[in-house]
Amino acid sequence: MTNLQRKGPRALAIFTAILVLAVGQWRGIPLSAANLPPLQAHPLPPGLAQWQDTANSGDYFSEVKPTEVGYLVWSKFPIKVYIFMGEESPANNSSSSKKWVEAVLQAVQEWSVYLPLEVVNQPDDAEITILRSRPPLRPSLDPSTGQLQLPRVRSAETSYEFYIRKSLDAPTVLSHRFNIQISPNQAPIYTLPSARHELGHALGIWGHSPKETDALYFSQVRNSPPISPRDINTLKRIYEQPTRLGWEL
Ligand SMILES: [Zn+2]
Repeated sequence: MTNLQRKGPRALAIFTAILVLAVGQWRGIPLSAANLPPLQAHPLPPGLAQWQDTANSGDYFSEVKPTEVGYLVWSKFPIKVYIFMGEESPANNSSSSKKWVEAVLQAVQEWSVYLPLEVVNQPDDAEITILRSRPPLRPSLDPSTGQLQLPRVRSAETSYEFYIRKSLDAPTVLSHRFNIQISPNQAPIYTLPSARHELGHALGIWGHSPKETDALYFSQVRNSPPISPRDINTLKRIYEQPTRLGWEL
């Protein structure tokens, strides 16, 4: 299990920092390269192949770390996204929960320009689940002191796990799925930037930008930016990398 936590600079503490807790989990899969598919790059998805940044804005690919099985690249499209309202029943569908869903759907639409995403009605089909719920409070270890730190309130949390996908009509492949929790308790104006940022992680940007003009900047800022050319340049480089995910076992 790996934990990755990033905190915003103190100057930004008045905003709720977006923190990532990455939980890489093996469900009974022996962690040995010998019985896993070899590292190979997938063909570049058309939306990324067509992307050209004529302004040469650069990227932050060096901040993105591969996992034990390579980069977190999707290769079966569309990627299925399930949006779950949590315990709230439809009868008690408040305007705040409607705004939350609208913001999440907008984030899905924004990323769909580059990678095909499909919102599905069944949780079982989902590869990315977005849950309307407050992320759990967890103490974190301060690496400089070795002391446990009191948890800070997080507005969102994203985690992934690996599994072996078996089906009757397709080869058995090493797969991954993501779980995103986005708090219902933050001001609605922050739901879209949270969803955009966390979806960026789930699409493979497993790291943060040092520039606040990027959607994957490590902290929430007042005027949160749209998906930037640097975000897409980074995403495109990730999708050119080798991975064991999506290949036949
Ligand atoms: Zn993040």
